[in-house]
Amino acid sequence: MKRYRLHIDGQAVDPQGDAWFETQNPFTGQAWAEIPRGDARDVDRAVQAAHRALTSGPWAEMTATQRGALMHRLGDLIARDAARLAATEVRDNGKLLAEMQGQLHYIPQWFYYYGGLADKIQGSTLPLDKKGYFAFTRHEPVGVVAAITPWNSPLLLAAWKIAPALAAGCTIVIKPSEFTSASTLEFAELFDEAGFPPGVFNVVTGFGAEVGTPLVEHPLVNKISFTGSDATGRLINEKAARLLKHTAMELGGKSPNIVFDDADLEQAVFGAVSGIFAATGQTCIAGSRLLVQDSIHDAFVEKLLAVARTARMGDPMDPATQVGPVTTPPQYKKVLAYIDIARSEGARMVLGGEKGNAPECGQGWFVQPTIFTGVRNDMRIAQEEVFGPVLSVIRFKEEADALRIANDVRFGLAAAVWTKDIGRAIRMSERLQAGTVWVNTYRAVSFMAPFGGYKDSGLGRENGIDAVREYLQTKSVWINSGAVAGNPFVLR
Ligand code: NAD
Repeated sequence: MKRYRLHIDGQAVDPQGDAWFETQNPFTGQAWAEIPRGDARDVDRAVQAAHRALTSGPWAEMTATQRGALMHRLGDLIARDAARLAATEVRDNGKLLAEMQGQLHYIPQWFYYYGGLADKIQGSTLPLDKKGYFAFTRHEPVGVVAAITPWNSPLLLAAWKIAPALAAGCTIVIKPSEFTSASTLEFAELFDEAGFPPGVFNVVTGFGAEVGTPLVEHPLVNKISFTGSDATGRLINEKAARLLKHTAMELGGKSPNIVFDDADLEQAVFGAVSGIFAATGQTCIAGSRLLVQDSIHDAFVEKLLAVARTARMGDPMDPATQVGPVTTPPQYKKVLAYIDIARSEGARMVLGGEKGNAPECGQGWFVQPTIFTGVRNDMRIAQEEVFGPVLSVIRFKEEADALRIANDVRFGLAAAVWTKDIGRAIRMSERLQAGTVWVNTYRAVSFMAPFGGYKDSGLGRENGIDAVREYLQTKSVWINSGAVAGNPFVLR
């Protein structure tokens, strides 16, 4: 079995505790590699290395243009190794090879975009209310960044943090999810090959309590950039508040996908299906609440079922597979438990609802694509994030009704509206409480478009030009150009 090593200060090293844990393939249910079980000692070593790289040596001395050039080289290496890294992701998280290849071929763009931005970070000269001074601002790296990532799209979500942080001049210690650490460890090797100085990018793998906690609490960590569940995000944010650290939080969602009766229904059906069943529903932006206007409800559900029924489960490495397994055993149990909850709440199950036990599912952790109709928005199945292939269909009467239901949830990550009425599209996009609103599409994301949550879905934004500000702090510099200092003990 393959045994991985930590990546600290430009070197592959064994964990100080000399301990490893097994990682499993969600399709076979079998262990396929050993991941280092890091602890506080490894965290300290990695943070010290990141702090050294931040404050002295070649990274600290480099011009922003040189930083950008390194990032471009890294992007090229990711593109070169996209197939290998995608295969590692599939082995570890069970998502479809086609999706992971798509992500890996897209990730270099984050490094090209933010690499290009590195030497365009400018301060400004300040108009002042005082004579005899010249003042300007500098935007400096916020410091050592602790990046903590989830299991659903390990490298893509890591790139959303790493690329703007590097552009800003920060150094990084990343802790990937204990369920999907392998790809981040392989990714780290590309930093050395690209020519990044040691200590700029470090990976410590392990569990939340053993690696995440000491990383969050380390005095030399200045910023915590977290993607994961809102429960863990809250915990980290509480600690960070006490320790006065900067944070960015990308948390969960319960996004409404709203279909009006004037929509292109065929397109809306595809949007609804990809919104919930792509990635086996394991995306923060899953369109898990489908709001359908009363007048078309029954016909639309019929069309939806006709497409959803054709979903083919199976080996995620097989290009013919459309729905893969759930990534982790606890998540698998959680999704099945939510199906039971929805039934007991009185929702009507019109598709799926069982473990996937067809022969092509092998020993994998499969849940059938599942659809509930007759869902009321106050049911748990409509309010809580399932993070699996479970869709709740909710009826609405008119626009105001749709808006009220859509916003009546504690999350606010994304929302979609399907309509041909441009006025309605604009009104809805103004009033929906979500960080991203799509009109007549679903799931579109880009390195160029800010992404993040309203309400309990998070704090801060990733992607787009402004994301680099998450990793900067501003300094004001005052220069005396002619003001004369008087005796400070004599009041004027
Ligand atoms: P999780 O919160 O369980 O874990 C996320 C990471 O935090 C893991 O690396 C974990 O080891 C670490 N962690 C756990 N306890 C910790 C602690 N006490 N201190 C520090 N780190 C700790 O989330 P998950 O189950 O891996 O991911 C699924 C969740 O992520 C879903 O809620 C999903 O919506 C969310 N998510 C959000 C986005 C987004 O951009 N908004 C994207 C993807 C996933």
